Amino acid sequence: MAIERKNFRRFTFTEYIDYLRPFVSQVKFSQVHVHGTWKPTIADYRKAKDKMKIIQGMWRFHTVTNKWGDIAQHATIDPDGYIWEGRSLLEAPASSVGFNDPDHDRIHPFMFEMIGNFDIGAEKLEGSQLAAAVKLTNAILTMWKLPHEQIKFHREMNPGKTCPGSGINKSAFVQLVRDLPSMELSVDDANKVIENWLSPAWFAASTKAEKDEIHRLANELRKASGQL
Ligand SMILES: [Zn+2]
Repeated sequence: MAIERKNFRRFTFTEYIDYLRPFVSQVKFSQVHVHGTWKPTIADYRKAKDKMKIIQGMWRFHTVTNKWGDIAQHATIDPDGYIWEGRSLLEAPASSVGFNDPDHDRIHPFMFEMIGNFDIGAEKLEGSQLAAAVKLTNAILTMWKLPHEQIKFHREMNPGKTCPGSGINKSAFVQLVRDLPSMELSVDDANKVIENWLSPAWFAASTKAEKDEIHRLANELRKASGQL
């Protein structure tokens, strides 16, 4: 008999990247598979008091109704941009028949779901959910040294589907992923701003509140450039 319930951890994007890091040496992702849940919708998620139940609902559907070994996806991006744990990263996903590479050789695609119905006229992929999807795709490509051609939408593998949603334009999504690294702040530029601008302002500041704010901004720059 299957276990009744499985718990799934919820990560911020930064926490999820820390969680991914040790897997670089343990599994070889060959592609990134992008899906939208269609159901549950963003509205379903907003209504749920206990958000975990939404993830568990998918897990139950995949294991009980579809009779799969576990929830299909490696990760689920919720409408607030949090990333929920899915099946083991060491296992092939249940992404699309013929594209899962389920031969237990620890080479397979990374699959994520975005909660929402993203078909034209329905819900929109936007804000922190879009940002998390773009950043996660970019992180998998970067950490596993994959070209942008290895980003696959479900509908490319199964033309009978609109997944991740007919409202999501593939080339626009890939373009966001391509543009992402240029939005990152280099360590050099961050430190130039801190040394040449924030540091003199800190010495010139007359109140503790001003000094605290400058200190906070310097730390934000350090964080944005990966120094904290
Ligand atoms: Zn799909």
